[in-house]
Amino acid sequence: MKILKIIIALALGFGLQSCSKLTNFIPIDVDKAIGENFANSFEYHPTSGKVLDSAQNQQIYAYLNTIKSNLLASDKIKHKKDFVWKLRIIEDDSTLNAFCVAGGYIYVYTGLIRFLDNEAQLAGVLAHEIAHADNRHTTSQMMSQYGLSIAVAMIIGTDASAVVEIGKNLLGLSFSREDEAEADACAVLYMSQTNYDPREVGGFFKKMIEKNKDTPIPELFSTHPASQNRVADIEAEWKKIGSKPGKTFETEYLQAKTYLNKAKTTTDF
Ligand SMILES: [Zn+2]
Repeated sequence: MKILKIIIALALGFGLQSCSKLTNFIPIDVDKAIGENFANSFEYHPTSGKVLDSAQNQQIYAYLNTIKSNLLASDKIKHKKDFVWKLRIIEDDSTLNAFCVAGGYIYVYTGLIRFLDNEAQLAGVLAHEIAHADNRHTTSQMMSQYGLSIAVAMIIGTDASAVVEIGKNLLGLSFSREDEAEADACAVLYMSQTNYDPREVGGFFKKMIEKNKDTPIPELFSTHPASQNRVADIEAEWKKIGSKPGKTFETEYLQAKTYLNKAKTTTDF
């Protein structure tokens, strides 16, 4: 037991590398397998709405994929080449959310796209989600939430089926307050290497504060730091790294929203 504890302590050992603090010794293939497994089941049965078909909705996908590529150009993304970084849009106007599971599978709800005001705000949300995957928060949360045996199975790769089974329930997994802060800080760093205004990482929260719309949101809003604190922390991070103001691309965003109006709609829901 003592040895297991040492292994876990090593796996959770703190290191210092760019915006992330945690060193995760679980093999990278575990992240990829979990993400792929999740995507295969989720895309056919999302918890709400339907995944927009990329062939029939090329304009909105091209627009979002360009934002994604702008962010992935950052040299601060460690697993740029390891993960798939595949983006899917879920047609559900009532959900203001986006999430990214292990291995780089990104999901954005149409409700969030409609809610935001400019491209930099959406880039900020995507940057935050990319940071969760790149910092491998899913596998580190799985270790802390499912205990030593699963953690060891992940590290030494003895029980793939148990890990994949847990992966199916990823939506029930919440990130820690530290994970959220780390994802915000990394997002500011990625954004500082683009033309976007890095402060717009907090744009979503500012809008929520303005509208006083503290309705439950599965991921973005799931943890303790209040929106006000997150906005302040994001601006402090922006100052700390000596970043620039950048642009918001409002006109382009308004145009892109019209692609959604023309999106091939589904009538199943
Ligand atoms: Zn988050």
